[in-house]
Amino acid sequence: MRDQYQREIDYLRISVTDRCNFRCRYCMPAKGVEFVEHSEIMTYEEILRFLRIAAGVGIRKVKVTGGEPLVRKGVCGFIRKVRSVPGIESVTLTTNGALLKEYLPQLEAAKIAGINVSLDTLNPVKFHEITRCNEFGRVWEGICMAVKTKIPVKVNCIPMRGCNEEELVEIAALAEEYPITVRFIEMMPIGMGTGYARILQDEIKELLEDRFGTMELVDEILGNGPAGYYKIEDFKGRIGFISAVSHEFCESCNRIRLTADGILKPCLNFESRINLKQEMRSGISDSDLEHLLKEVIYTKPRCHAFGDETKKDLQEKRRMAGIGG
Ligand code: SAM
Ligand code: SF4
Repeated sequence: MRDQYQREIDYLRISVTDRCNFRCRYCMPAKGVEFVEHSEIMTYEEILRFLRIAAGVGIRKVKVTGGEPLVRKGVCGFIRKVRSVPGIESVTLTTNGALLKEYLPQLEAAKIAGINVSLDTLNPVKFHEITRCNEFGRVWEGICMAVKTKIPVKVNCIPMRGCNEEELVEIAALAEEYPITVRFIEMMPIGMGTGYARILQDEIKELLEDRFGTMELVDEILGNGPAGYYKIEDFKGRIGFISAVSHEFCESCNRIRLTADGILKPCLNFESRINLKQEMRSGISDSDLEHLLKEVIYTKPRCHAFGDETKKDLQEKRRMAGIGG
């Protein structure tokens, strides 16, 4: 269905957990993270009930995310069920990759339509610095194995000034060697990401063009959302940019989000008071649930309003892991 600004909303990001086996500096503190109680996490059955209704109002694509989705027990079986909901055309996954190798066969069997792996560096020492985990080897192995399957693989990298800026060319070159789409995602001023100096799309594009030659914008549909994709001669994969700050894309935003504890969010950057879990556990009927969903979609904010001081009270205060990235 369309919202009040005539945007077609057909994409739902589902966070299945706020827990994670990493502690990326821009996402979570090292210690003392307070996680949602297990009893407050949406059950798979609750999510699927909501999804059937969402598919009925036009949701076609689903991203399973977190926290780290692969740490939640039974997630591959859940993905298979999501895939079989009438109307759902594709289910993709965003992961930190540490458990990818183990779960790849199950993900293939579940007919996952794409896997996005977050990887901000190719240097194991820096990887440890950023994620506070020593898992570079396992993540890399997972990526290499995934590339050998038919599942489309994307690598998502957040460029950070004074952190991985020297490596961006090397990371982009993964798309030269492998059929991988490498996407540079601008750090958003949300949660712990607020304190980071982001590097903007135009600077990275210039850097890559200096090294690899002209980048040509392509109009292939390579993802669910608002990334811009480029091809470079002789590259096997594409380069993408998701630039929520420097190239605001809210005009074409097509997504809503469901957090692990059941909050339905029409926009990443706005707090929401729509607690689906509470409604469902209080016995809301399917038709009232549909009505509520339609209202949330219809009233989706026009734009994310990052940095807009006048909207500060309404803006999201949660960590990214709690929202679903
Ligand atoms: N754990 C999984 C992972 O890391 O891919 C999925 C959840 S994670 C929150 C999803 C994505 O959000 C990751 O690619 C991460 O780099 C990104 N992310 C976290 N904080 C961010 C921020 N402030 N701005 C932009 N992206 C952010
Ligand atoms: Fe975990 Fe992903 Fe957040 Fe890193 S970005 S701490 S992997 S949820």
